[in-house]
Amino acid sequence: MAETPILEVTGLKTHFHTPEGVVRAVDGVDFTLMPGRTLGILGESGSGKSVTALSVMRLVADPPGRIVDGRIMFEGRDLLALSPAEMRKIRGGEISMIFQEPMTSLNPVYTLGDQIAEVFQIHEGMNREQAWAGATDMLEQVGIPNPESRVDDYPHQFSGGMRQRAMIAMAIACRSRLLIADEPTTALDVTIQAQILDLLLKLQEDMGMAMMLITHDLGVIAETSDDVVVMYAGEVVERLGIDTLFDDPRHPYTRGLLNSIPRLGEKFTRGKQPLEEIPGTVPNLIDYDPGCPFAARCGQAMARCHTERPPLFKLNPAHYSKCWLSEADAEGRAGVAAAG
Ligand code: SF4
Repeated sequence: MAETPILEVTGLKTHFHTPEGVVRAVDGVDFTLMPGRTLGILGESGSGKSVTALSVMRLVADPPGRIVDGRIMFEGRDLLALSPAEMRKIRGGEISMIFQEPMTSLNPVYTLGDQIAEVFQIHEGMNREQAWAGATDMLEQVGIPNPESRVDDYPHQFSGGMRQRAMIAMAIACRSRLLIADEPTTALDVTIQAQILDLLLKLQEDMGMAMMLITHDLGVIAETSDDVVVMYAGEVVERLGIDTLFDDPRHPYTRGLLNSIPRLGEKFTRGKQPLEEIPGTVPNLIDYDPGCPFAARCGQAMARCHTERPPLFKLNPAHYSKCWLSEADAEGRAGVAAAG
């Protein structure tokens, strides 16, 4: 029997109402995440990747934001149909999230022990003593030295890397089945970044959880992801496996991202062409052109690209590209001839 996705997002649209008009931050996003796997969501800032994550958690501030269409199925339940109380139970219990800057999530006036113990008390119904022991154990699991004494420390007494470890401890305390990590290493220096990524991968393996990892960094994607969704201007422009990302990317934007970074070891061995930058910036998400949102920056744009929006073409069951150049090689269109 085919495995069921842990998370299946279909036609997600999250818009923001501003005095200047409606900002279509997420505009028709589809992807699936299988149990135990890591899905990397790659894109520049403003591509809609963080709003996608906040939509899954139902944490988009309303107003000005609103999920206006789509479905978010988590283990067979439609998260958009749950009551606020049901959703609160899922957040931090079954799905947890970590952010770029842990200080935004940690409360500066409580010790780490208090904050982690609270997770156990709320979601597991533990008494204070059990919860405190659980908090100490979690700090040990995420590699914080002397957890018995550090559990009494406040967030400001930790370094950036240690705070991120503590945040991870809090996020996984209830053995969530899905961890959403939004730029979890961006604020850290390079050696600490590698340690945090290693920690996330080890915990994922130990606990069998699925991970949705949001980043602008292809190096992070290369280290962690099984499958990748490339986002641009609020849309998914390419969906593919990690090997295909480096061996056979089809969308000009994905190719541009790959060509704009230095080669980092074996995965970046696609010829010896010099680094290129993608000209221009992400388009205004209020006034849409009818054509491809990447047309103004695309070196391969054709006349039809400026007038007709490409659908997401299915190249094979694991590879989709939203570009007219993929039409000739496509088996069909996602959601039409070849949903999947
Ligand atoms: Fe470039 Fe056209 Fe493809 Fe858009 S549809 S990425 S403009 S070639």
